[in-house]
Amino acid sequence: MAVDPPGGYAEQDGLGAADGFARLWTPHRMAYIKGDERPAGGYDQPAGCPFCLAPQRAGEPDSLVVATGKHAFVVLNRYPYNPGHLLVCPYRHVADYTDLSVEETLEVASLTQTAMRVVRAASGAHGFNLGMNQGGVAGAGIAAHLHQHIVPRWGGDTNFMPVVGRTKVLPQLLTDTRALLAERWQDGE
Ligand SMILES: [Zn+2]
Repeated sequence: MAVDPPGGYAEQDGLGAADGFARLWTPHRMAYIKGDERPAGGYDQPAGCPFCLAPQRAGEPDSLVVATGKHAFVVLNRYPYNPGHLLVCPYRHVADYTDLSVEETLEVASLTQTAMRVVRAASGAHGFNLGMNQGGVAGAGIAAHLHQHIVPRWGGDTNFMPVVGRTKVLPQLLTDTRALLAERWQDGE
């Protein structure tokens, strides 16, 4: 479906050659990758890696950690595609799926299953997208620390707002979602 944004697409005179593809520029993503929150050492450095820091801050009022395991933990994505968008991360700062030990692989899988049950029970999700972006070229925002996405889906959740308004509609604050999911998790969903 082709819908022109208000004002039409920006044209860059003289840059590149027409190839028949429309582009959707998303500079807001650059604010996330390069913006103020970017640590001095960059995301490649464990000292500045948000997925290394997150479990240390579990339990703090603005923590988004939902559950912690022995080898991996579950945290809400700060930049969700949908409400309840979770990430399962190993504690170790490793980039590639093949870097995981057998124990880590099993726990990432098991936490993913529990996360699906918890989100389904809490929100009635109709389906899920699961996956890992391996490397920056594949779309990983923080490529240096492996993370498995769990994105709940509902029928009709892709509407005109992201297409026309470039706005994601997220009806619940992250801290409220975290509290809801963490409570369900402890109840043993
Ligand atoms: Zn890390």
